[in-house]
Amino acid sequence: MDSDNIFERWNLNRIINVSGTMTSLGASRVLPKIRKDVDQILNSFVDIDQLQNEASRVIRKVIGSESGCITSSSSAGIVASIASFITQNNLDKIEKIPLENEKSKVVLQMGHQINYGAPVDQSIKLTGAKVQLIGSAAQCETYHLRNSLDQDVICGLYVISHHTVRENELPLDLFVNICHEQNVPVIVDMASEYDLTNPIKLGADLVIYSGHKFLSGVTSGIVAGKKQYIKNVHLQNRGIGRHMKVGKEGIAGAISALECWMTRDHEFEKNKETQIIKKWKNDLFDLQGIEISEHEDWTGNPITRLKIKIDPERCFANAWEISSRLKNLNPSIVVRDDLIENQEFFLDPCNINHDEIGLVSDSIIKVLNDFTNDPERKKETWSEVKSTREKNILSWGD
Ligand SMILES: *Cc1c(COP(=O)(O)O)cnc(C)c1O
Repeated sequence: MDSDNIFERWNLNRIINVSGTMTSLGASRVLPKIRKDVDQILNSFVDIDQLQNEASRVIRKVIGSESGCITSSSSAGIVASIASFITQNNLDKIEKIPLENEKSKVVLQMGHQINYGAPVDQSIKLTGAKVQLIGSAAQCETYHLRNSLDQDVICGLYVISHHTVRENELPLDLFVNICHEQNVPVIVDMASEYDLTNPIKLGADLVIYSGHKFLSGVTSGIVAGKKQYIKNVHLQNRGIGRHMKVGKEGIAGAISALECWMTRDHEFEKNKETQIIKKWKNDLFDLQGIEISEHEDWTGNPITRLKIKIDPERCFANAWEISSRLKNLNPSIVVRDDLIENQEFFLDPCNINHDEIGLVSDSIIKVLNDFTNDPERKKETWSEVKSTREKNILSWGD
């Protein structure tokens, strides 16, 4: 008889996620209350416009914007937001997007041209709009922005993320003020940030959050902002938005996640994470060849991660070999590896269950021991990792 357990029935690897809210791992653990609410709507019919209206009410309450709506993901939220500034409420244009020869330039700081799974400029170009990059990789000044704001600009896009180059960027308040001087609205993509209220206070016109990252909801995007602009975002469901449709489960899941956010015990959750970091530090502090320290989140989210710095000579392994071996264990342990070429990785406590805590540190100890016991092994260089990456990406389905 087939098992009720889908991990057995479908041959899926068990994963311990010490990486963070990663789309490739299923984003986050959806809270029980949200799962219950989504389950209810899955077995019912609902007027979608009414459900979106309720979303708007809850977004107003939690985020403090005039209005809001739900999209299938944050990236879909960016596409619909850009499109809304091309079409306004012209239903014909909405059906015809991508339009050629429309006034449609979007200003983006060069350091904000990031890849969050897909490059951010693609969500601009999908609408037919053109990307106007300003400044250089690690420098954007007021004159770069001011000088770019000509007649063809429909909006500015500002990205807040650990992926951006934050060195010498324009701060959000300044970016908004300069754009508004020329009556250019500003979209803020902050899919992965905790700060739900400040950008609206700073005057941002549309702000985009992910429903499935810190909010622990189902896959969805939340667009908050000024009433007339949100109306035009919502209308994109009759055009480009349809190709990235959010269903009742996504809208209900996002509303429920926002409601839960208001009543979650953030201090309790933070304390729990502090205890996890403390236990890992205790387990790992005297291991040969590694240096551990606490690391505050890059963009100021209230998350402390454990940073593990590898000395490849004393560990007889590079950081990427250690993370790769951890990933190949069963259950697979996926660490946070954005800076791994610097011989360091991070342990993120946000998605860890009580019974997984010890397994993480035990596995790290075991993997480090295995490498130390094999000192003659030839190490894999970072260039080798980079040169095989493309092949690995293409290997799905083989
Ligand atoms: C995750 C992320 C996205 C994409 O979010 P989805 O909801 O998964 O589409 C976009 N921008 C930033 C800054 C992100 O962190």
